[in-house]
Amino acid sequence: MIYFTKLWIVVRKRKTMIKNEILNLSHTESHTNLLGPGDRFAIWVHGCCFHCEGCLAVNTRFGKYKEVNVSDLAHEINNSGCDGITISGGEPFLQAEALAALVKQVKNERDIGVIIYSGFTIEELRDKKECAELLGLTDILIDGRYIKELDDGRPYIGSSNQKLHYLTDRYKEIGKDYYAAPRRRAEIKFNADSVTLIGVPSANVLQIWQEIKSKNGGSDDDF
Ligand code: SF4
Repeated sequence: MIYFTKLWIVVRKRKTMIKNEILNLSHTESHTNLLGPGDRFAIWVHGCCFHCEGCLAVNTRFGKYKEVNVSDLAHEINNSGCDGITISGGEPFLQAEALAALVKQVKNERDIGVIIYSGFTIEELRDKKECAELLGLTDILIDGRYIKELDDGRPYIGSSNQKLHYLTDRYKEIGKDYYAAPRRRAEIKFNADSVTLIGVPSANVLQIWQEIKSKNGGSDDDF
């Protein structure tokens, strides 16, 4: 019985270790300034627990994804030279422990700013013990579900219920100008085998995006 208990503890520890070392990832882009101030490394994690009508990130919920080693991704971020990380998805806080491990590894090498887009509200996140560490490493949180009827065209934010929280002073000054931009900015990027929409799009860009999708068969696996 004792042997069995000890074995269970060892197995459990190993599972936790693996869970924190592997991240389910949809996509990354280095050197963008469409998802926060500065030169950013953007990460879209895979998987979401919400079902927002009009979600533009359907591919991060149902499309292809890869399992990446946190240390490998931390190395890639540090080698990119970007001065900030923006994490979106999907729902980042469903992988809060692995993301906290990633951010800590990056910060071990150098000082870097962290912005997270989450479908959870800050109050919901503060109620979740497993989210505390990642939240503590975050400089800006943009929170709340996307509500199509409340999409008011505000730059960098999907709908008016979503709020931008400065959790540290890091971006407070630069953020005033950045988030007061007069209009939305987004980029449609053509890669060898996929097309990516980066940023929160205006109605015009969204229409172009929908046309590109329908011309290419509309599979969310490819976007
Ligand atoms: S929280 Fe974001 S990724 Fe999840 S369904 Fe809503 S809009 Fe889509």
